[in-house]
This record gives sequence, structure tokens and C-alpha cells, in this order.
Amino acid sequence: MQKKEKLYEGKAKIVYTTDDPDLLIAWFKDDATAFDNTKKGTIVDKGIINNTISSRLFEMLAKSRVPNHFVEKLSDRELLIRKLKMIPLEILVRNVVAGSLAKRMGMAEGTPLKRTILEFCYKDDSLHDPQINEDHVLVFDLCTDQELINIRNMALKVNEVLIPFFDKLGIRLVDFKLEFGRYRGETYLGDEISPDSCRLWDKKTGEKLDKDRFRRDLGGIEEAYKTVLDRVLKGA
Ligand code: ADP
Ligand code: UDP
Repeated sequence: MQKKEKLYEGKAKIVYTTDDPDLLIAWFKDDATAFDNTKKGTIVDKGIINNTISSRLFEMLAKSRVPNHFVEKLSDRELLIRKLKMIPLEILVRNVVAGSLAKRMGMAEGTPLKRTILEFCYKDDSLHDPQINEDHVLVFDLCTDQELINIRNMALKVNEVLIPFFDKLGIRLVDFKLEFGRYRGETYLGDEISPDSCRLWDKKTGEKLDKDRFRRDLGGIEEAYKTVLDRVLKGA
């Protein structure tokens, strides 16, 4: 399958059309951004690592009956995906207090949550992806009632699959972001699941193995992403 026209260039990926109107190719870049695009940088080989990790996780989720856009990993940086009509939401799934939740609640990072929290952001760069609630989602017709139920159930199912998977690899799944879309009338999981979109902490040392190393200038970012890759390849 060959790339045809560039459909969209985002912060982390370029999306191309293919000969098949139902399929797209996502090309994973090494570009990293944070803080609403104000911090920019490069993480060497991030695109290769994120494509590989994401592919493995999507394959695993498909086996666990979470419908997702993964079709085939075509090359180091290229992922063949189903073309979804994206729902303009970012779903944040949280198991442990960290990041913006720690700030908002004035709580220490690392505090376990007594149950999983789902948060919704309206995916719109020009509005800086504001946090919204489920009433906003429905009142502003961002998706249907049934789609919202599907999204909630699928996000929790992804969490149920990924927590024990990462746990076996010695990694604590702190939180992550998902995106969903529509494909042939069904709700599908899309985008990526990678150290860019998850907080992953080493269980023994507490070391951060994710994009917070870039956000917070902690150094060792390439090594951290490589650690996650090596463990995922062992575990998958
Ligand atoms: P961003 O737009 O947040 O900068 P990326 O650089 O990762 O993100 O760009 C990927 C874009 O492709 C995102 O807008 C994402 O919503 C969209 N996308 C992800 N998966 C699919 C898919 N299966 N079909 C269509 N669009 C997708
Ligand atoms: N996240 C993401 N993209 C976003 C916002 C959040 O991938 O645009 C992920 C982030 O990496 C973390 C989780 O969602 O794993 C929770 O994000 P939080 O709101 O705490 O992010 P922060 O504001 O600290 O980046």
C-alpha cells in the first residue's frame, strides 16, 4: 500500500490517503510538542518507537475485542489504519493523580485513585483543547448518546487490558489519552497509544518513562522510550 496525498499534518504524525478510500497511512514523526504547542523539540527515533509500541498495543486490544483502526504496520514509521471520522474529543483515563489533575486538586503526584476517572477535552487546537463534561459533549452534539456510552465502555476496557499488561512489564499505567472515531456506523479507537500519550512509571524506581521527561526537561528521554519499547516487545 502506497501513500498518496497528504490529508493532514499534525504535531506527531502525518496522515496520507491511499488507493483504498477506507484506509489511510499514518507516518510517525520525531517532533515533540508540549504545553499547548509552546515547547517544541525532537526525540530521536520517537516515531519509530511510538509506531512499534502503538501497533503492538492495538493488535492486543483487537484480540481483546476493542475495535480499533489498526490494520498493519507497513514500515518503521508507517501504520496502515482504517479511515475514521474522528470524534473531536480527547478522553483522559486516570488511575493515579498526576499532571494537570495534581495541579487542579492540589494533590501530590502518585496518589492512587480509588476508582478510574475519565475526563473529556474538546479537541480543538485554536481553543487549546478545553476540558468539558459529558453534558457539553451531548448538548454540543460532539457525539451521540450511544457513542458516548461506547466511548466510556471502550476507554475502561482499554484500561482493564493495559493495566495488567504494563504491570507485568514492571510499569505503572498512571494515565493516558485516547481518541475515537466512526467507521461503518461503529465506534472505533484511533490515533496512538505510546509514551507520548501515556504516563508510564517504572514500578520499582518510580522513574518516568514517558513524555514528562521532555515536558519537564528531565533528560534521558530517548532511553526512557527505548525502555518501554524493549519491555513491550518482550511482553507482547
Ligand atoms: P494532532 O492533530 O493532535 O497534532 P497528530 O500529529 O497525532 O495529532 O495527528 C494525527 C491526526 O490524525 C489527529 O488529528 C487524529 O485525530 C487523526 N487520526 C488518528 N487516527 C485516525 C484515523 N484512524 N482516521 C482518521 N484520522 C485519524
Ligand atoms: N495527554 C495527551 N495529549 C493531550 C493531553 C493529555 O496525550 O493533549 C495525555 C498525557 O500524556 C497524560 C494524560 O493524557 O498521559 C493526562 O494528561 P494531563 O491533563 O495530566 O496532561 P498535562 O496537562 O500534564 O500534559
